[in-house]
Amino acid sequence: MADIIYINHQDVINFAASTVEELDAYAYEWEGEGVVHIHLHPLKHSFGDLSKVSFSRASSVSTYEGDSRFVVLVATKENIASATLFERTSDGYSEKDYVYIPSQEDLYSRNEGLLELDILSKKKVIIVGLGSFGSQIAIELAKAGVGVFSLFDFDRVELHNLSRHTCNANELGRLKTDAIEDAILGKNPYATVKKYPVNINEHLYLLEKELKNADLMICATDNNASRYNISKALVRHKKIGIFGRAITRAEGGDVFRYRPGGPCYGCLIGADFLPPEEITNVESARGDGRIPAYVSAEDANAIVQVGLSSDIQPICNLMVKISLLELSRGLNSGINSLEDDLVYDCYIWANRREKNYKEWHPFFQAGKNRTVIRWYGVNVPRNEGCAICSHNVELDVSGVGGFKPQVDDLGDVTLEL
Ligand SMILES: [Zn+2]
Repeated sequence: MADIIYINHQDVINFAASTVEELDAYAYEWEGEGVVHIHLHPLKHSFGDLSKVSFSRASSVSTYEGDSRFVVLVATKENIASATLFERTSDGYSEKDYVYIPSQEDLYSRNEGLLELDILSKKKVIIVGLGSFGSQIAIELAKAGVGVFSLFDFDRVELHNLSRHTCNANELGRLKTDAIEDAILGKNPYATVKKYPVNINEHLYLLEKELKNADLMICATDNNASRYNISKALVRHKKIGIFGRAITRAEGGDVFRYRPGGPCYGCLIGADFLPPEEITNVESARGDGRIPAYVSAEDANAIVQVGLSSDIQPICNLMVKISLLELSRGLNSGINSLEDDLVYDCYIWANRREKNYKEWHPFFQAGKNRTVIRWYGVNVPRNEGCAICSHNVELDVSGVGGFKPQVDDLGDVTLEL
């Protein structure tokens, strides 16, 4: 016997509006837990045991002649569809209590819906890169009510990034675009998700096509060729972009926001955009898992520290915060006061006092000195010689891979303490 039963409300509404007398449906049960979810259509990726359900327009279960485990009697009164649920027992069918899975109309209902606010439901976000950053950001934005997504990533879920990724072991081998689409739809079944399992550096026209009617682009890739191309597209289409990265063993990282007319990503990292070192081999080694992400070639054999995923969280979280702030500008979002706080182009974060941050001061006695576990805002001057936003300079970025950013790479920007 099932103890807790959910019925998809939208299915009840759709069945009531149809002219069909009876339809087979699907009950998915979490095995051994007594929890059942009833849907009129088969789920794309089902869970648990499957049993048969009948949706019927009959006025009484006594006239039902089938053998389904569950019968959902649907009636319409004053244009409102309602359902009565029965489960088969040894003594015939007995009525059961149930809870609705919210309909599309109730999606954003504060008390009955899946999401709390609808102000971002029409907002379109492009996410390039669905690794440990992009996958989390996608799901957080879906939870915040963003309704339209375009996802770019040609990778599959692999063992070497599983510990930092939102995907689980049972999703190994799946395209990240497919897996994250499911994760988004799990939060908002009515979201629109377009998937592009391609390398954007080879399919820039797709990115540009999507960018034309987008509200925001998230750059969560791990190489400079894509950052360059994304930055160029943002400047050309006058769109807002959020860039984020962790460095080496995620001892720190930064978040950059591009706003049309302001400094671009090329202004931020300047000449180091095209690093002189030969890193193609590292990239390929990283690509096939011989070197994990966020680990430099030199550090590849060093001990892996505990909590690498937790070191990525603060950076992801700020990317989400700034994204929500940009998406809800001019709307009554409840976070507008952050516009007075998050005023910088770039933000720097350090997790540990090592490598680039080894001269920084212990948190508890830092005073006005630089320290870890807090954000620093940086204003980036517009670079009049920037290859991306100032001159129409075509650079050959073929062979450009992930470079290892240094705090000093910020050049002549001022770190405001
Ligand atoms: Zn620039």
